[in-house]
Amino acid sequence: MSPLHVGVDIGGTKVLAGEVSTEGRVLRTARRRTPGRLADPRELDDAVTEAVEEVADGRPLTSVGLSVAGLVDVARGRVRFSTHLPWQEDDTAARLTARWGVPVLLDNDVSCAAIAELAFGRGLSHSDFLLVTIGTGIGGAIIHRGSLWRGANGMAGEFGHVRVVPDGRVCECGMRGCLEEYASGNALLRLAGDAYEDGQAVTAAAHAGDPVAIQAITSVGDWFGIGLAGLVGSFDPAALVIGGGVVDAGELLLGPTRVALERHLVGAGHRDLPPLLVAACGPAAGMVGAAHLARTG
Ligand SMILES: [Zn+2]
Repeated sequence: MSPLHVGVDIGGTKVLAGEVSTEGRVLRTARRRTPGRLADPRELDDAVTEAVEEVADGRPLTSVGLSVAGLVDVARGRVRFSTHLPWQEDDTAARLTARWGVPVLLDNDVSCAAIAELAFGRGLSHSDFLLVTIGTGIGGAIIHRGSLWRGANGMAGEFGHVRVVPDGRVCECGMRGCLEEYASGNALLRLAGDAYEDGQAVTAAAHAGDPVAIQAITSVGDWFGIGLAGLVGSFDPAALVIGGGVVDAGELLLGPTRVALERHLVGAGHRDLPPLLVAACGPAAGMVGAAHLARTG
């Protein structure tokens, strides 16, 4: 029987497990609801186990990779902290390895998305790029010479919490003026007002010509470009690969982003702007990366 490596993306609202081919094709998936942060950690173990078992469908597992929305100690297989999950200072890999009897590897969700992008997406044509996800908040990953650059403590890439406004809005992280307070799905909803249920509704309204929605997306794009200008000045990447739900706004977002990036970049006019590329792996990137992590270690 061929080996079975399952990837699981564990986000704030849902658990998505999947089997992925060696070429990165999603073969089958299963999903469960994520128990809230205050739930017993074992409830999340159970939800993940059910999703993995549904994907396995009676076949023996070889290994499992987990993409976790939170701070992860990769070497020890621990979840240190998560805003949304009941796993806190949690020996996740050891406990689930004991339960399932196979190796369990885990990494942060944006790192997993970067692993997927490297193996199956923009990494096929670029070896130095930044992955920046603009969804509810902002996530980031640094790709250097074809591999993920994690920093001294595995915590590199927190671009969403770079301060762009002194004494600005209070962020969920406790600091003020963070980029994601101005350039994210949450910021988009705040700017668009109460008439819209979620970011997708704002994007749909903007595509239909709604001026309030267009203005909100333009503002988010403008701030996003300011943030990216700082990153390009710091890292000089060959490309900026943009993922996350807000990127569905397409040029309504990326047009203003590009203008602001050029306006705020040091030495603009005397250097080539890196292209803004939409991430190739889409919304399942975390799960696909987790499956690749499980396969490759
Ligand atoms: Zn912050």
